[in-house]
Amino acid sequence: MYTTMSPNVIPYPVPRDSGEEFTKDIFHIAEAYGMEDLHFKVDPATGLKAIVAIHSTRRGSALGGTRCLYYPTAHHGLEDAIRLARGMSYKSAFAGLPYGGGKGVLLRPKNIKDRNAYFECYGQFINSLNGRFITAVDVGTKVSDMDIINRKTKYVFSTSADTGDPSLHTAKGVLNAIKAAVKVKLNRSDLDGILVAIQGTGKVGYHLARLLRTNGAKLAVTDIDHSLEQRCVDELGAVTIPPEGILSYECDVFAPCALGGIFNESTTHRIKAKIICGAANNQLANDKHGDLLHRKDIFYVPDYVVNAGGLIHVIYGTGHESDDRISSIYDSVCNIYQRSIATGEPCHRVANSISEQILSSSRQVAAYMEV
Ligand code: NAD
Repeated sequence: MYTTMSPNVIPYPVPRDSGEEFTKDIFHIAEAYGMEDLHFKVDPATGLKAIVAIHSTRRGSALGGTRCLYYPTAHHGLEDAIRLARGMSYKSAFAGLPYGGGKGVLLRPKNIKDRNAYFECYGQFINSLNGRFITAVDVGTKVSDMDIINRKTKYVFSTSADTGDPSLHTAKGVLNAIKAAVKVKLNRSDLDGILVAIQGTGKVGYHLARLLRTNGAKLAVTDIDHSLEQRCVDELGAVTIPPEGILSYECDVFAPCALGGIFNESTTHRIKAKIICGAANNQLANDKHGDLLHRKDIFYVPDYVVNAGGLIHVIYGTGHESDDRISSIYDSVCNIYQRSIATGEPCHRVANSISEQILSSSRQVAAYMEV
């Protein structure tokens, strides 16, 4: 592992049950998560404070979106970057994609004075990594930001000249995963009358709501942005639930499509859904919360298996190859469930061991790929 580290990113305790290890020194954290390298960039002129976390380049360049969010501390941002980067490696390996896993995290300033200068500076930073990391759109960034990054580097996907916003394709994959989970867990071959509660009706959540409605599902939605949940009420006949009520809402399927870490010490025991299957990355604050869901006989469908549709679209665009790969998410979910039933192992551990096996048996390829 090598590190290019800014002196103003100082490890200090982060009081969350998601990672007591984040109180330790930065190299300890990186080793514990199996990271290859961490890169930091500060640019006072534009306000850029960026982290690029590279988990694995064994299967190819580390591919992962760039988030631009407010974080209470740099350490929260670092934790997010590291956990998300590892998730990207697992997602890519599980889906058989020729890329490794990484993530970009931008510690969003109160005010981005000049968005062009800000993302151009970030583009230069990515370019300096010579293709070890390729980025794409994520929470808090837009396709137009990818276009700005593209002025400074070719190591960016999902620009407007390329595949654009992948959210619809992510939602299609989530729909396939929900259909599979309903089939194996509830023994139902269709979604007619199945009640799905969606947390977060942003880009993916809204597309998912529309697809589910077309398939006959009943919808309950929540979003902290009320205009977004209201759109689902007006257009799709959804009912709304207060944000704090969604976890204990009785439904067939709970689809988390907001942010990660929602299954933690204070929430997991409250879940009443029979199936959890949504797009949000890193839903489990910690693996032990997945174990608890398993003991409660709730089918938690591993997030990175469910939400691979967007990544597939970013790599393959539209067409048969992309469609077939997104359709195959259905079979992957059935296989994970059946293996879990056969072995008694929780589904997230089944998926993790498959991904880890694929990663460890992959031959190291040159991470400086032509894109
Ligand atoms: P988005 O920002 O468009 O939507 C997220 C929505 O969640 C927003 O509308 C926000 O207001 C809402 N939200 C935030 N906190 C909430 C809370 N506590 N309760 C209710 N609503 C809340 O993001 P997106 O692109 O739709 O992505 C959603 C999730 O899916 C993220 O975790 C992302 O990493 C993951 N994901 C997205 C894609 C993609 O193609 N966009 C691909 C893979 C994974």
